[in-house]
Amino acid sequence: MTETGLGALASKLPWVGTTIFTVMSKLAAETGAINLSQGFPGFDCSPELVKLVEKYLKTGFNQYAPMTGVPALREALAQKTEDLYGISYHPETEITVTSGATEALFAAITAVIRPGDEVLVFEPAYDSYVPAIELNGGIPVLVTLTPPDYTIDWETVRGKITDKTRLILVNTPHNPTGRVWTADDLAQLAALVKDRDIWIVSDEVYEHIRFDGRPHQSLATHPVLQERTFVCGSFGKTFHITGWKIGYCLAPKALTTEFRKIHQYLTFSTVTPIQHALADYLKNPVHYETLPDFYERKRNLFLESLRGSRFQFRPTEGSFFQTVSYQAITDEPDYDLAIRLTKEIGVASIPVSVFYRARNDYRILRFCFAKDDDTLLRAGERLSRL
Ligand code: PMP
Ligand code: GLN
Repeated sequence: MTETGLGALASKLPWVGTTIFTVMSKLAAETGAINLSQGFPGFDCSPELVKLVEKYLKTGFNQYAPMTGVPALREALAQKTEDLYGISYHPETEITVTSGATEALFAAITAVIRPGDEVLVFEPAYDSYVPAIELNGGIPVLVTLTPPDYTIDWETVRGKITDKTRLILVNTPHNPTGRVWTADDLAQLAALVKDRDIWIVSDEVYEHIRFDGRPHQSLATHPVLQERTFVCGSFGKTFHITGWKIGYCLAPKALTTEFRKIHQYLTFSTVTPIQHALADYLKNPVHYETLPDFYERKRNLFLESLRGSRFQFRPTEGSFFQTVSYQAITDEPDYDLAIRLTKEIGVASIPVSVFYRARNDYRILRFCFAKDDDTLLRAGERLSRL
């Protein structure tokens, strides 16, 4: 009891602190370091998109959007998915606009998981998955992937499946490793879940950012997977608008019905003028078709700037993150090194151990290369001094 007679609030997430993204971005700002830590573009979005938002802001589109999303945006998403993957999602019953992919992931996990259910999570894992599982009383069952290639051993995955397994979380292209799933990964997963009551949440926010001609293997493209998968996407990564927090969920009707029961009480609906603007902007495929080349050039520029350094790396397959090993330079823990590099050489990164539950430290740092060329070159030059 405190002096007021009020008991202490017992934390529902006792092991959770402030996210590493907030910690590192704050440190970068305080020290004036080049911030290649938190994943967000260092350049602005298209002026055409801003103009569209302005148009809808000024012409009275400022009240609640429908709970499921503005019809024109759901229709544009249906068209895009059909054009790219040949898969139809019905805009009325199978597509929901959300407040970022974070909300879509939380709502999908909440729709499926009851106390005691087991959820397979591949780690390193994006930081929002495990808290969302635990808040719903689920039990994360971790499948640990390791450098340098982070490939999945499907026999290990099979060994982790029990009668209690209700959900598997997938992320391709992957944050933080950049790994992109292959058609074989989809087939292996399909063989595992077939004939079982296991659902899937597939985080595909980096769908349009993959390199060297690799296709995006959406889980929507495999019939066995499609019928049980909530595909979560985000406009933040695709259109350089992470601050607008707008995403979506594609899922078959029965899954979407349950998803919407959660979504309507999490946020109800998402910012109206931006939905209208995105509906217009999405109609021109050039806006996302050019993204692989745009980011591949930046990845190559950043890696070229590290050529003379003692960092070891394989060119990232997708996402706007590059991981590098510093084993040849020092054996400091990755967290300590990320802090030291920010303070001493002025480049902020993310230590990859934070994406592992047991903080496995393989001496790897993650750099975000969604930055101006000049910033990437300056960062590369500083890192090469090590
Ligand atoms: N999933 C992954 C893998 C991400 O990297 C991010 C964000 N940066 C998100 C989800 C969250 O997306 P949003 O900002 O649209 O909520
Ligand atoms: N997804 C971004 C990253 O991985 C950050 C998102 C956030 O700050 N929550 O860096």
